[in-house]
Amino acid sequence: MYSDKIKMVSQMILSSRNTWVLTGAGMSTESGIPDFRSPSSGLWEKIDPMEALSSAVLYHNPKKFYKVGYSLLTSMSGFEPNEGHFVLAKLEKLGYINGVITQNIDNLHTRSGSKKVLEVHGNTRTGSCIGCGNKVELQVLTNKIESNEIPPRCERCGRILRPDVVLFGDQLPKEFNEAWEVVNDCQLLIVIGSSLTVTPVSYLPQMAPKVIIINLHSTPYDRYADIVIRGKSGIVLKKILNIIENEV
Ligand code: NAD
Repeated sequence: MYSDKIKMVSQMILSSRNTWVLTGAGMSTESGIPDFRSPSSGLWEKIDPMEALSSAVLYHNPKKFYKVGYSLLTSMSGFEPNEGHFVLAKLEKLGYINGVITQNIDNLHTRSGSKKVLEVHGNTRTGSCIGCGNKVELQVLTNKIESNEIPPRCERCGRILRPDVVLFGDQLPKEFNEAWEVVNDCQLLIVIGSSLTVTPVSYLPQMAPKVIIINLHSTPYDRYADIVIRGKSGIVLKKILNIIENEV
C-alpha cells in the first residue's frame, strides 16, 4: 500500500510539467529542529510561540520578545540539511520540480542547494530596523543582545532592530504573493511536513489542481488531497527519487 502510493506519486511528478513543493517545520525535524505541533516533541508543548513570537510582544514588550522569542528563533540555527532537503534540491536540478515554498526559517533549503526557494515566513539570516528599514546580518542583533543591549537598536536611527522573520500578527512578505501565483499556475503541489494550520499558507493547497501530502500526522486538508503518505519526509523523498531515477 505504502510503496504503491510512492510509485503513484513518482509517476505524478514525472508526468507533471509544473510542480511546486510546500514545506513546513516537519521537513526539518530529521535535522534535529523540533516542529511546533508534533505531539510530545513539538515546541508548543513547552512554550506558546503565538505569544513569544508575536509582533504584539515585539512592539509592546521588546525585552520579553528578546528574552523568549528571539532565543526560540536562534535555537533553530546551526543545524544541517537532511536527506529530504537534498532530494528536493536534486529534483529541482533534474527539472522535476520548479521550486520550494517554505514556511521554515532555518535556511536549510538554500543550504542544501535548492535555487528557487520562496521563504514565505522570512529567514534567520538578516534583521532590519523597524524605523528606517536598515538591513543587517542577524548576527549583529545577537552580538548586541549578548552585550546586554536589549532590545538591540539601529546604529542609524536608534529604533529597535528586529529579525526578518514573519511573526504572528505581521503581514506576509512579497514572497507570499509569488507563492500564491505559482501555486495558481502549477499542475501539482506536494505538501511536506506541515500541519496546514497556519493561515494564509494553509489556503495554498486548495488552489492547486492536484495535491500530495507527505506528513507524519493527519492534516485538515488530507481529505482533499489526491494522495496522502504518512511517513518521514526524508525516507519518503529518497524512495521517490530512487523510482524517478530508475524510470528515466
Ligand atoms: P507544525 O509544527 O505546525 O507541523 C509540523 C508537521 O510536520 C506536523 O503535522 C508533524 O506531524 C509533521 N512532521 C514532523 N516531523 C515530520 C517528518 N519527519 N516527516 C513528515 N512530517 C513530519 O509546522 P508548520 O505547519 O510548518 O507551521 C509551524 C510554523 O512554525 C511555521 O510558520 C514555521 O515557520 C514555524 N517553524 C519553523 C521551524 C523551522 O524553520 N525549522 C521550526 C518550527 C516552527
